[in-house]
Amino acid sequence: MPIYTLIGPIRQLLTMRGLEAKGPLQDSQLEIITEAGIFLKDEKIHEIGSYWEIYPEAQSIGAKMETLQGDFVALPGFVDCHTHICFAGSRAKDFAMRNTGKSYLEIANSGGGIWDTVTQTRKAALEQLVKLTVKRANRHLTDGVTTIEVKSGYSLSVAEEIKMLQAIKQANSETAADLVPTCLAAHICPKDFEGSAKEYLETISEELFPILKSENLSNRIDAFIEDSAFSPQDIADYFQKTKDFGFDITVHADQFHVGGSAVAVAYGAISADHLEASSEKEIALIANSDTVAVALPGASIGLGMAFTPARKLLDSGASLAIASDWNPGSAPMGDLLMQASILGTFEKLSNAEVLAGITFRAADAIGLSDRGSIAVGKLADILLFQTSDYREITYHQGRLKPKMVFKRGVKI
Ligand SMILES: [Zn+2]
Repeated sequence: MPIYTLIGPIRQLLTMRGLEAKGPLQDSQLEIITEAGIFLKDEKIHEIGSYWEIYPEAQSIGAKMETLQGDFVALPGFVDCHTHICFAGSRAKDFAMRNTGKSYLEIANSGGGIWDTVTQTRKAALEQLVKLTVKRANRHLTDGVTTIEVKSGYSLSVAEEIKMLQAIKQANSETAADLVPTCLAAHICPKDFEGSAKEYLETISEELFPILKSENLSNRIDAFIEDSAFSPQDIADYFQKTKDFGFDITVHADQFHVGGSAVAVAYGAISADHLEASSEKEIALIANSDTVAVALPGASIGLGMAFTPARKLLDSGASLAIASDWNPGSAPMGDLLMQASILGTFEKLSNAEVLAGITFRAADAIGLSDRGSIAVGKLADILLFQTSDYREITYHQGRLKPKMVFKRGVKI
């Protein structure tokens, strides 16, 4: 027997449907249904519209009534399309050093930096990684993030990357949020690998890729193209193999230096993330492609650096998603709504652009078409904010959290 649930009456239901996948959006384009009802059948949206029109039908079939008292705004569950929440340890010491002006090298030489996280994560037992990942995912879920992409990349050997991806898979079964795993074995070249960066990537593609497929650990491959990580040429060769295996591609591109975005576009990446250093040329390249640009304001805030040129990307016609980049080094905050709201202020984004960036455009960035809007047939991932005006949400810059979260039709 299916379970029917009626949620409402909702003062403002923002469906986020019918909006362009790319380019600028204005608030006047948002579809807002007032005094709305959302009628769920199991984990999906069965019907939306006027609460009082749906009510008799819902009542006649004995639907569960989630009756709302007071003013609520409904939005689709948020999608965080770029995180690194599977890790052990803290980098508070690095953060403090960086804030006193210490360089990347000075921090690395004192035992900090990404290698510290790799050491801690390798040391952690699988169960511990599962526990840490579930805890962070559940915090995100309470904040309204119902789908979370999670990268490996803090283990950097075939066996240890498998452990991380197994931990993410297990964590997915222990949290109500949906976790989308991505293999980021090409994060940096591990310093204990005996051989060149190119040889490391060959080992990964030859030994790890078949296991990702056979054990269903990930359909997505990410790589960090940067002076301190991998060259565009090394990754171009790696992506050729990635394509042969049929993985989706995503790239850490143009964070400090340009180069990554061109590789992303050339290899048909589903998203190019960071782009803080992108100039007009890279922006045009991405805007003319199907690659979603992903801004990571949490990393800009954590590093004290410029934001991704979100306004320019949108005005050039790109699709813009916004993600938290939640990680122990540069983006420890892990508050997607706060970061997206702040980016909106600095980059002059409309509410529609900010909300699109953490709903349907973020879903596009990880290839999921079953979520990101409130429409018939979509997953019943729904947020209810206690306010009468949706503009209050970004106005409070992340302090106004959802009062209720439904994930796949279940109230969290
Ligand atoms: Zn990242």
